Amino acid sequence: MRPLLLRVHPVPLNPRQPTLWRGLVTARKIATADVKYSPRRFGSPIDHMTSYAPSTNIAELRESATIAASARAKALRAAGRPVIDLGAGEPDFPTPAFVMADAHRALDAGATRYTQVEGILPLREIIAERASALHGGERITADQVIVTAGTKQALFNACFSVFGTGDEVLVPTPGWTSYYEMLALARATPIAVRGARERQLKLSPSDLARSSTSRTRGLILNSPCNPTGAVYSRDQLSDIVAFAAERDWWILSDEIYRAISYDGEASSLLSVASSTDRLVVVDGVAKSFAMTGWRIGWSIAPRSLTRSMAALQSHTTSNATTISQHAALAALSNPAAATEAIATMVGEFKRRRDAALELLQAASVDVIEPQGAFYLYIRIGDVTHEDPEPGTTFARRLLEEHDVAVVPGAAFRSPEWIRVSYAAPAEQVMEGVRRIIAARISWGL
Ligand code: PLP
Repeated sequence: MRPLLLRVHPVPLNPRQPTLWRGLVTARKIATADVKYSPRRFGSPIDHMTSYAPSTNIAELRESATIAASARAKALRAAGRPVIDLGAGEPDFPTPAFVMADAHRALDAGATRYTQVEGILPLREIIAERASALHGGERITADQVIVTAGTKQALFNACFSVFGTGDEVLVPTPGWTSYYEMLALARATPIAVRGARERQLKLSPSDLARSSTSRTRGLILNSPCNPTGAVYSRDQLSDIVAFAAERDWWILSDEIYRAISYDGEASSLLSVASSTDRLVVVDGVAKSFAMTGWRIGWSIAPRSLTRSMAALQSHTTSNATTISQHAALAALSNPAAATEAIATMVGEFKRRRDAALELLQAASVDVIEPQGAFYLYIRIGDVTHEDPEPGTTFARRLLEEHDVAVVPGAAFRSPEWIRVSYAAPAEQVMEGVRRIIAARISWGL
């Protein structure tokens, strides 16, 4: 067989921007006899890769600021700096032992092959069963569920399949960093909508009304919220659902932190919305079961949309990792063990939250009182001409001068704030918070 050689010729994309290059790929078939396969011989086309410029698909894409902040803290630690990492977005607990045991068993039984794109049936069935129990209305079935490589993929599938060019989508702001980027990748326009401080930055229908236009096609909801920890009450969700239904908008409800809430279980949109026609609910095991690395999430959506999202996934990742699906199945099908594991973790988060809040409030720090998730959202100061990102400036100095890593609020489109994670050992959380308070005082903030 003849090998295929790809040659990349850089050509200027725009003559007025000589540094911007586009790779023009030409494929040439070269007879085996023509070519000696030495790496040296093929050095030239590979060198041209240095002229890579991002495609129009990702030219505007920004890397995940939360992942970048966490990577920086890890790198500093690896280099020997005694950094207290309060940037992490993952529980500092091990995956529960009963989940690990079942995953081992599944692996020994040979769960190593492709599954259906949508995921193994028993897992989809149990997800549908739990969704039906929440919804109470029309039964939700396994053909409305897709198991994905993390909740991230479920959100991406939904953003990409529901929204497109010209569509505006309202994003509660501060909001999780990837919503904005995923919508932009789908060529839709994310519209950042700010909620009022006295409502813990949560949105109301009047906020939505203010930001909507004839192009608005839907909104994202995230309760409990990353980064604020705010939880929408049932009534608040009902008002939003009614407002969206009148306008035939889609709602993407990201419920990944729902199990981590401190004043009773946070409401799911499944239990609030009477119709699921324009609703996509995404969830996963990452936060509630301390299973971030297993990468299992899912979507619950109308059947027609589910088919489209499965087609999309069939061309990207196919099924979520098989062994991880079995681990997620174990997590969801052992309610007694799951309840105990979650209660232990949430109890510890609550203790840390209470202790940290006490310190912050005693020092008159402007902090959102979180009712869920595991973050404290702290206001640093106003945006000014001299400093358009006070949260970023504070986070940078805090890391450099006090060895504490936090995530700047700019990652969540609210540059006045910083996010402090208490998914870290209690003594580190308290020491980090003490240093934040001391830094504010010594910098006159
Ligand atoms: N949604 C929110 C609000 C998150 O904070 C995260 C992770 O940090 C995700 C989705 C992604 O979750 P997963 O790890 O399941 O992809």
